[in-house]
Amino acid sequence: MNALPNGQERNEVANPEPIDRPAVDLAHQRITAILAPLEEGLQLWDGAGHLIYANPATHRQFCALEALGSGRHWTELACDCRTESGEPCPVDDFPVAHALRGGHKATPLLLRVNRADGAARWLRLAAHPLNAPDGSTSGVVSITVDVTQLVEQELRLEQQAHFDALTGLPNRALFSDRIDRALAHARRHGERLAVCLLDLDGFKAVNDEFGHQAGDLLLRKVAQRLKDTLRSEDTAARIGGDEFALLIGDLSTAGQCEYVLKRILDALAAPYLIADTEVRVTASIGATLFPGDTVDPDQLLRHADHAMYTAKLAGKNRFSLFDPTLESRVRANFGLVRKIEDALSRGQFVLHYQPKVDCLHGRVVGLEALIRWQHPVLGLRMPGEFLPLIEHEDVIVGLGNWVISEALRQQARLRSAGHDLSISVNIAARQLLRGQFADQLDAILARHTDVDPRRLEIEILETAALEDVGAVSRLISDFRQRGVRFALDDFGTGYSSLVHLKHLGADVLKIDQTFVRDMLDDPGDLAIVQGVIGLADAFHRDVVAEGVEDLAHVRTLLGAGCHIMQGYGISRPLPAEHLDLWLDSFAPDPGWQSPPGLLPH
Ligand code: C2E
Ligand code: MG
Ligand code: MG
Repeated sequence: MNALPNGQERNEVANPEPIDRPAVDLAHQRITAILAPLEEGLQLWDGAGHLIYANPATHRQFCALEALGSGRHWTELACDCRTESGEPCPVDDFPVAHALRGGHKATPLLLRVNRADGAARWLRLAAHPLNAPDGSTSGVVSITVDVTQLVEQELRLEQQAHFDALTGLPNRALFSDRIDRALAHARRHGERLAVCLLDLDGFKAVNDEFGHQAGDLLLRKVAQRLKDTLRSEDTAARIGGDEFALLIGDLSTAGQCEYVLKRILDALAAPYLIADTEVRVTASIGATLFPGDTVDPDQLLRHADHAMYTAKLAGKNRFSLFDPTLESRVRANFGLVRKIEDALSRGQFVLHYQPKVDCLHGRVVGLEALIRWQHPVLGLRMPGEFLPLIEHEDVIVGLGNWVISEALRQQARLRSAGHDLSISVNIAARQLLRGQFADQLDAILARHTDVDPRRLEIEILETAALEDVGAVSRLISDFRQRGVRFALDDFGTGYSSLVHLKHLGADVLKIDQTFVRDMLDDPGDLAIVQGVIGLADAFHRDVVAEGVEDLAHVRTLLGAGCHIMQGYGISRPLPAEHLDLWLDSFAPDPGWQSPPGLLPH
């Protein structure tokens, strides 16, 4: 390698023979002419690693590199390149160095160089040693191929595979990956981390009212606020329509996690400007902490989901921390779901029926079916002992369907015995919102053609109905056409707005029993009871008071304009076999007809 394009003699070969200069120049011209039009960059280095020749493509590829002048050392080239991960190039593994050192073909390296406009250009650089006749390495030829298009396409695919197109946040797959890494890191360094699921409250309403584009814009703004609120080392991911996941690391206490979640709730609750309108949405967040909870990433997500659901049911715009002790209770109860399925198939569930009475007119108007588990060993178990533990499990759907069928069967039986009463059943939020409730109810009604659907009333918790007002109101209006009635149970606990109430179209409001029970001593509770009665009146809904325990309750309610009541003061829930006798011997309590002077104002 003794002929240099600019006439320099770098690698002098101790050859006493005279050089045929014109022949060398001719050869050089020919080679340059051949290499000039090549799209690939080609560089020739001497045995000490100095550049002897670079073709025009090389200059185009490394346009920002003045270091490409002949005589420059390869390290100057390496200095201005980055590897795939953005790190400085590894000097030892740089292919030219490798070829110079080892004398054999080096592994190609992907390099990132900056174009004149600052954008990235991706080059694949391979180097081959040039061996002298004595076997020593006299130089290196390196080739740089521009693979920018290919790499950008790969990056796009990678982006699509790991990031959400709308918000640019990591998607579920990347989030799972980050949990894995964060868990490994937390374990090594004895740190705490929180895995959270966040669901927007009222997102659907924005979509319905302002259209999908506005909905998309809102999601992007939410994503931005999440990014702004979290530290850069934490992760916010979008894992579904309006569902986001958060990974918050390096927490010293659970309180610190609560502080971060509170900040997120505040940030998201601030108004958004969408289509020139101020829009407000809030979020419900469920979080679970490691260590403390399991080490399985899927399980952590599932637990965060449970906690999120709890936050929704508790009234939204709040967070809820997963309680591992509850989970271990479930596990201690191990196989509870299986036991319940088993109990269902063995017919161990029974319904008790609590009468609903119109105390003004002195007649029974309906019955509420309440489930009990007739356990062969433990005796009669109340719903509060097992329903909360399975309310997130699919078995709740099977159980709910059984309840409806059994209640309808009982309705038909009572009607033939002369008591044509309406039957109410309670439906869990999961069945209502996550299952194919409409189809299930249709199928059950189709099997009970002997029952008039107008005699069936579905009770849903007010808090569950508020979870997805749109979906629930569609269900309600669907079934209303078939005659089935809907009641909002435990009304007053969910803070329904007037708009919700108008939208939901439920037929009945059931005043929560805690207000009724305490209204005699607590003027605030009395005001709520009166308020609900007023609302029901204004919206032409029926109103039922639960938890009526004594005569004073009945009188106060009658005075306030609520006639239909349910409670221990009238009757406890009764097993089916006691119903006929109770109904046959029912007589209104004379105390219900109180003189007007005794009624509170
Ligand atoms: P709920 O639907 O609000 O039912 C009323 C609950 O209050 C019943 O408790 C009833 O026995 C009780 N109760 C009625 N009158 C009085 C009273 O005067 N004083 C007091 N202290 N309590 C009274 P139960 O049967 O233990 O049911 C509790 C809850 O479990 C129900 O509340 C309902 O939300 C749920 N539940 C019951 N059966 C079913 C079912 O078949 N499916 C579903 N998904 N939930 C059910
Ligand atoms: Mg109920
Ligand atoms: Mg209730």
